[in-house]
Order: sequence, then C-alpha cells, then structure tokens
Amino acid sequence: MEEKIKKIRSMIRDVPDFPKKGILFKDITTVLLDAQTLKLSVDCIYETFKDKKIDYIAGIESRGFIFGMPLAYKFNCGFVPIRKPNKLPCEVISEEYDLEYGKDRIEIHKDALKKTDRVLIVDDLLATGGTASAAVSLIRKVAIPTGVAFVIELEELEGRKKLPGDIEVFSLVKF
Ligand code: AMP
Repeated sequence: MEEKIKKIRSMIRDVPDFPKKGILFKDITTVLLDAQTLKLSVDCIYETFKDKKIDYIAGIESRGFIFGMPLAYKFNCGFVPIRKPNKLPCEVISEEYDLEYGKDRIEIHKDALKKTDRVLIVDDLLATGGTASAAVSLIRKVAIPTGVAFVIELEELEGRKKLPGDIEVFSLVKF
C-alpha cells in the first residue's frame, strides 16, 4: 500500500493561489490522466472498505463523482449523487453548512435511500471538513453513513475532528 500511495501522491499537482490568493489547490486531474494511478486510487479505497457492508456509494459534487462512480462499480452497488442546490429534479432533502463567507447547501433525492441502507460517502479532498460533515448529516437523515473516503486529506486543517466518531474516515494521501 505504501508504494502505491507514494505513486498517487507524486501525481497530485499543486497549484498555488487557485481559486484565490493564498490557497494551494490540490489538482487531481493529473491523477486522472494516468491510467495506472487512476486505477490505483480507486482500488486502494476499495481495498480499505471491501469487507464492510456497503449498499450505496454517495459521491459529493463534483470530484466525489469521479472517484465515487468507479467505486460503486467495484462494490457492485448503486450510486447516489450528493448535489449542489437546485440541480436535482425531484423532491430533495438538504443540509446547510458554513463556508468561510456565507453558507452553502447539498442535496439528495428524498426517495434515493431507505433507513437500513449503509452508505460510503466519497469526495476527492478533506480540508476543513465542513462539506463532509454536512454530507454525513444529510445521509443520516435517511440512511446509515458508515464511512467517508477521500483521496487527499489536508491534515493541518483538522477536518477529521469535525466528523462523527462512529464513522470510519479514510484518506489515501495525507499532506
Ligand atoms: P472542506 O469543506 O473545507 O473540507 O472542503 C472540501 C471541499 O472543497 C472538497 O470538495 C474539495 O474538492 C474542495 N477543496 C478544499 N480545499 C481544497 C484544496 N486545497 N484543493 C482542492 N480542493 C479543495
């Protein structure tokens, strides 16, 4: 696993001052370009959770879709898109969360999951944890969030502390 993680880490591109000054953007498009690294990153997350009972993968828009969908394929389970506001066409449930300035909201279809469904939430990156903890709360309204998986974790932002203790939090590459 160590060697695989090293390889994935080496393919992540740092972009300073994007989308605004002072932010070091972790660009995963360079991971996606390389067939071997792309496959490794999906496979490593799969290996971590493969013995858990997972009924659905829920991917957070938009880069969580990229890694979430191949995981759903591997788990042989369904995929639930966690979307930004006003994108889903049918009745939704939503969860609001704080941004640096203001608030944002994520949504899923109200009829997507049932109470007994065990859900693995997937996103590309854990920063402050605001998005992921909102996703956990959202899924908890209608089903059972069992884990959260990220390709990247920015450890100094301590996003992990925002996530509830009863959920397995896994990140492949830590910075
Ligand atoms: P947070 O809610 O602070 O944990 O932020 C996580 C979300 O913002 C994820 O969906 C990431 O895609 C995105 N994000 C936050 N910080 C970065 C960063 N430095 N580089 C790339 N994406 C980021």
